[in-house]
Amino acid sequence: MADILFLGTGGGRLNLVRQLRGTGGFLIRSPLLNIHVDPGPGALLRLHSAGADPSSLDVIICTHMHIDHVSDAGVLIEAMTGYTFKKRGLLIAPKSVLDGDRFGDKSISTYHQHLPAECAHFGPSDSREFEVVNGHGKKCKFKLTGVMVKHDAEGGFGFVLEMDGVKIGYTSDTEYLPAIHNAAFSSPPRSTPSPAISSPSAGLDVLIANNLKSAADGIPDHLHSGHLIQLLKFAKPKACLLSHMGMGLINSGPELEAARIESESGILTRAGRDGFTWSVSGREWVKSGKSAGGKSNGESAKKPAGGQKRLGE
Ligand SMILES: [Zn+2]
Repeated sequence: MADILFLGTGGGRLNLVRQLRGTGGFLIRSPLLNIHVDPGPGALLRLHSAGADPSSLDVIICTHMHIDHVSDAGVLIEAMTGYTFKKRGLLIAPKSVLDGDRFGDKSISTYHQHLPAECAHFGPSDSREFEVVNGHGKKCKFKLTGVMVKHDAEGGFGFVLEMDGVKIGYTSDTEYLPAIHNAAFSSPPRSTPSPAISSPSAGLDVLIANNLKSAADGIPDHLHSGHLIQLLKFAKPKACLLSHMGMGLINSGPELEAARIESESGILTRAGRDGFTWSVSGREWVKSGKSAGGKSNGESAKKPAGGQKRLGE
């Protein structure tokens, strides 16, 4: 059973510096693989404070070159590779992150790129089945299908990830591209970039949406709630989780915004919360604790965090 641990649900430059909400991305955990997505500032510390073991990572995905999606990748690679002594794990990122952007800037050093067993270039039009040897020596597979974004970052991508019978969508940072996003995240998929290796299957179990703001503000390249509602009405994932929320949305109340989106879209929607874990099949928040890659905290998985209410219920 897969779950998703949020290491940071904040977005935007003000929040990035002030850290009202974290910027460490999220960790997809299955019994076989631990996949860290978009490890921005604080990812390593947030893993520790959530009780997850950074050395249990098997895969690191950086969807684009912006600092809030990649800054902690190097140190997490050192954790994933056993303090740099084991050549293991998989790093997936766009060409701009690995080889350099138009200015020649690499987001992850050549040294760190050589540490994992594989370093894979990936882009929005790619679809590939990856095989990874996990920390217990077992070969594990997952499929990643890139999704186009409109965002000021060369080669950035969203994705649909299929693993262990679950299907997780991630918009990454993007403006809404109706034709592309409706098709890529729809249920069942209306089209796929590479039909040869894509098979028809059920729709998304969850869509993680980087919903920066509640309404359009004239600033391009990011998703807002109005467009997200349109996407959800069409794509019909089983659940939607808001992340990468900007200061305005954080201050106005993410849970209220999630309730509005759910009411208008008809799709179960929750606001992401730092340090909390979403059960993909259970469709509810559970206590962060023992899971693949987690350290047991000795509490029941569904027991609310001390003094905190379960969210969204
Ligand atoms: Zn970005």
